[in-house]
This record gives sequence, structure tokens and C-alpha cells, in this order.
Amino acid sequence: MTAPRPAAPGPRPRPPAPPPRRSWARRIAAIVTVALVAVAIGVGVALVIVKRVRTGEWRAPTVGDLAEIKRDVAQRLDGPPPVPRVIFLDPRPRTLTAGSDDAAAGTSSVIAHQGDAPRTVPGWKGSAKQWRDLVTCVRAQFAAFDVEVTDQLPTTREHVLVAVGGRPKDIGVKDAQVAGLAPFNGEVIPRAVVFAFAATQSHQPRGVCETIAMEVAHAYGLDHEYLCSDVMSYLKPCGKRRFVDKDAPCGEKKARACAGGAATQNSFRRLLAVLGPRPATTP
Ligand SMILES: [Zn+2]
Repeated sequence: MTAPRPAAPGPRPRPPAPPPRRSWARRIAAIVTVALVAVAIGVGVALVIVKRVRTGEWRAPTVGDLAEIKRDVAQRLDGPPPVPRVIFLDPRPRTLTAGSDDAAAGTSSVIAHQGDAPRTVPGWKGSAKQWRDLVTCVRAQFAAFDVEVTDQLPTTREHVLVAVGGRPKDIGVKDAQVAGLAPFNGEVIPRAVVFAFAATQSHQPRGVCETIAMEVAHAYGLDHEYLCSDVMSYLKPCGKRRFVDKDAPCGEKKARACAGGAATQNSFRRLLAVLGPRPATTP
């Protein structure tokens, strides 16, 4: 640094500016920036690991992975999204994309299970009367619980989407006998997308209705039940199926313990615990 010159006539030279004082705010900002860069590198590595864990292959993360991580982080900060209280029966032909379930966005883990390609379902091909009967039947299945069944596009993001129509092959599933598909992990899957392949049941409202009840209940965490009168059953039907208020073993062709380890499941009580009872309507 040079010594200040003595005052001289004429315009006063400007003293040299003092070295800028680095404020704490700036220092903190710098630290945060560095930390963010470090985090970004860390997230990149973590994403590849997550990808490896999820798909079994080492691949660079995609935009979809980033969106998923963002959702995971948001979920950790805000808590899990609320239990969906709207079941949307969608009769329209539509294309759904692979991803974690988001009914409003039309992304589906069931589609993702078949690969990265988007899939188009043809929609309901039964009559208008059959559709009305179907909606009435599904409403009756869920009548005891605090949930709305509608065929109108919901305004809330928190809903279960039921893509009604078509056959398993439309979404790449080879087994032509499959009547429906849903994501399942033994807990509530927020914003789930489930499928009811109405064409495999010739658009018969009762059969499709029972399929929808089962698939939606899977999204609410319910397992298959070893009870022929229950809508969660794979057994030969013994009459019309519904959610039965009875403890029964889980299982498909034979009894087994339920997902989560319980010896039995009561589908009616379980849905009641998840959704709560339908509030009494005021006249
Ligand atoms: Zn099932």
C-alpha cells in the first residue's frame, strides 16, 4: 500500500479505496455456495446409487429421477401427502407415462414396471348405461367410508385414478387373464394410478366394479384375503363380493400371513381405519 500523498492544490485525488471488508453475510453466502456444490455432487452420486438400487443397473440420473428425489425430500419436510379421499373412475382413452404414481400427472409405477415407454389405454367401450351402473356399484362398495367416488375430473391432486377399459396387453402385460393392476406396498400409496381392464370382463358392470374395489383397496394398503365373499379375494366367488367385516387370513389360492406380518385382515375395518367412516349427510 502506498503512503497517502500530502494535500495538493487542485482536485483532491481520491484516496485509495480501502480493501472491501468481507461481511459475514458474504462469507456465509460463500460457504453455502460451496456447500451446495458439494451437496450437488453428493446428490448426483446418491442418484446413481438410488437408480442402481431401484433398477439394478448403473445409469446416470434422469430428469425423472430428480423429480422423484425432489418429491422424496418434500415429503420428508412436509410429511406424507394426505390419504386420497377421491376415487376418480376415468372412462377416457388416455396415455399414461412411467414414473412414480401421480394420478393428476398421469404417471404410473405400474406402467414403469413394464418399462420406460408410455402406454395408451383405450378407455370404456361398454354402453352409457353400463357405465352408470358401474359408477353406482363402486359408490356402493365404498359407501361406508369417507371417500368420494366420481367420474368427473377431480380438482384435487390427492386422488386415486382408476383407468377403466382395455386389456392387459395395452400396457404391456402378457397375461390376458389379469382383470386389474395396482401398486401395492402394504401402506397407502398417495396419488395412486390403478387399472381395471374392463374389456377382459366384457364391460360387465358388476365384475369390473369388484375389480375396481380390489385395485383401489390395494392402493390403500389392503392385501388379498382368503375369504370368498370378500372383494379382496382370488377364490371362486360365493355371491356378490364386498368389503366384509370379518377377520380372515390373507392369501390367493391358499391362506398365508398378510403383508406386514399380521395373521389376518379385516378389509372393512382396515379401510375404516385408513379412510374413516362416511360423515352423516345433513338433509
Ligand atoms: Zn389384487
